[in-house]
Amino acid sequence: MSGAEQRVEGVLVRVQPVGEADLIVTLLSADAGRVEAYARNARASTRRFGGRLEVFGQGSARLGRARGSLPILAGFDPGPALVGGDLDYTGLLLCSHAAELALASSQPDHADPVLHAWLCRVVRALAATRGVADPAAARIGVELSWLQAIGAAPPIDLCSSCGTPWQAGALWPRPHDGLRCLRCEGREAADISLSDLDLLAALVRDPGVAGGQPTPRGARLLRQRVAGLLDEQLGRRTRSASALDGLVAAVVTDD
Ligand SMILES: [Zn+2]
Repeated sequence: MSGAEQRVEGVLVRVQPVGEADLIVTLLSADAGRVEAYARNARASTRRFGGRLEVFGQGSARLGRARGSLPILAGFDPGPALVGGDLDYTGLLLCSHAAELALASSQPDHADPVLHAWLCRVVRALAATRGVADPAAARIGVELSWLQAIGAAPPIDLCSSCGTPWQAGALWPRPHDGLRCLRCEGREAADISLSDLDLLAALVRDPGVAGGQPTPRGARLLRQRVAGLLDEQLGRRTRSASALDGLVAAVVTDD
């Protein structure tokens, strides 16, 4: 059996119970993309796996020969944890949303180091934040940085039309068009202020960042446009998205 074993390093992005004691785990790996494996009796016996198999667990999976359609998870050697302490509910939802986005854009047997690095970076950043101050803003950071990782985000540091860096804020008429300067849109006033744009860039770098407060108008428009781009890519909502909607509605009062 060991001769047929294969090692894959990655992050667990989904753990699904099967029957009484088994699990199907999905790993996101930089080298091999999305890898699913069948973990027999994993809920009763955790020794082979260095503990319980949980989402955001990171390590080296040992895959045995497939019986049926999936390879058998023969063992899992945990590496350094992505999530150090306990995540609060908001952090958990945002990280789960990120895991679902990564899963949706991953492919089997398709190396995607950018996507893998994105997920690790975002989950680490959110886990390092003790209490996300503004879940709606953090969500924009998660979603827009994911769109960047899959090559589907407009530039955020310059006008999508003329390429000029921001001088007086931006407009974002339609999701596809990206952010545009006042001159290109023939407008006098910006919908997204310069400080909103600075905050947006900071959130994309680190969704857990405790930046300033976005203007209500800018925040609303950014949420709508990023949601529009996300819909185009996914065609459906992640399960965490609905829970996040409820959370954000409770925090955001300007709608
Ligand atoms: Zn322009």
